[in-house]
Amino acid sequence: MTLATSPAHIKIDNLTFDYGGDRPAVDRLSFEIAKGEFIGLLGPSGCGKSTTLRMFAGLLAPTSGAIVIGGENIVSRPPWERNLGLVFQSYALFPHMTVAQNVAFGLRLRKVGKEETASRVAQALRAVRLDGFGSRRPAELSGGQQQRVAIARAIVIEPEILLLDEPLSNLDARLRDEMRFEIRDIQSRTGITTLFVTHDQQEALTMCDRIAVMNGGKLEQIGTPVEVYDKAATPFVAGFIGRANSIPATLASTAAATGAPQLLHEGQPLPPPVADELPAGISANARLSAVVRPHAVRLSRPEGGLTARVNRSVFVGNMIEVELELAGGHKMVAELLPGGEEAQLAQPGADVAVTWKSNDMRIFAA
Ligand code: ADP
Repeated sequence: MTLATSPAHIKIDNLTFDYGGDRPAVDRLSFEIAKGEFIGLLGPSGCGKSTTLRMFAGLLAPTSGAIVIGGENIVSRPPWERNLGLVFQSYALFPHMTVAQNVAFGLRLRKVGKEETASRVAQALRAVRLDGFGSRRPAELSGGQQQRVAIARAIVIEPEILLLDEPLSNLDARLRDEMRFEIRDIQSRTGITTLFVTHDQQEALTMCDRIAVMNGGKLEQIGTPVEVYDKAATPFVAGFIGRANSIPATLASTAAATGAPQLLHEGQPLPPPVADELPAGISANARLSAVVRPHAVRLSRPEGGLTARVNRSVFVGNMIEVELELAGGHKMVAELLPGGEEAQLAQPGADVAVTWKSNDMRIFAA
């Protein structure tokens, strides 16, 4: 894995694209990518992922901003003068050509000699574990194999950057899981800097060195999977990556006097926040959101603290999902291990105390 601290290979600087709508589709996007890094561009539909990718590929010229690769701003270079490998969700293989001819396509365009082409095609097919498939037609391959041919075709030209646009979304669930690891493995072995577009948080978490989370054209956060999951920078990131409860809270007015911050929900105390978690410059009675993952929520007998009524308890195989209703009607979810004492307490209609570790809580200004 390449760390973000190694020298930047690609610098995206205030990249903006405006189709002329209410707001720019991509709005002053800035981040850096290290050589060999596998970066995910993650966000809901319409957040600007494809527009960003198309600016990389040279299919759209940015309204403003720069994409600097190896010190050069490439935005005015035509697509064919950018050393990029592209893989789309539709494999876009040529059906009348063999696998080997498909993979050789980019080398033919680049006028690479016959012998070298043959050896590079063989090498690329080995990289995607399809040696021996060179003489087949795409129609004789499974979806996963076709996608691997598309990857071989992209990497055979030894691109500086590999652009993957939702490459797994046309595959069935089982194959998708397999291909996640395949793609990551191929990328690690070839060391090609990769930009991977996906709307699927699970894919991003399992495959990427770092994830750039986008929302409404803007970068919400960029970080390792662990960082964006455990230390979400915004409530949007916390809710988009994994599940999250967002509980309205206020800072008790006594907090300023005693120095120990105390958060209240409908007058009931939440677990104490860790000191550096509170947003800077927050005043007493400020409205906040306490964000906690369902798996971090613990239940006990109702003896003070934050209390709730159990609305529903559903066994989903490896855990029990419990819907809780706090005083005042706010709903939240807890995930419990089946069989334990907590699961016993989670009977519909029962009153329980709800808690979590201070470290498991993020606090945002509401
Ligand atoms: P994503 O790939 O994350 O789904 P897109 O980059 O496709 O997002 O779109 C970002 C925004 O730009 C959306 O609001 C979308 O409606 C708008 N958009 C995309 N393509 C066009 C277009 N050709 N003309 C006008 N608006 C567009």
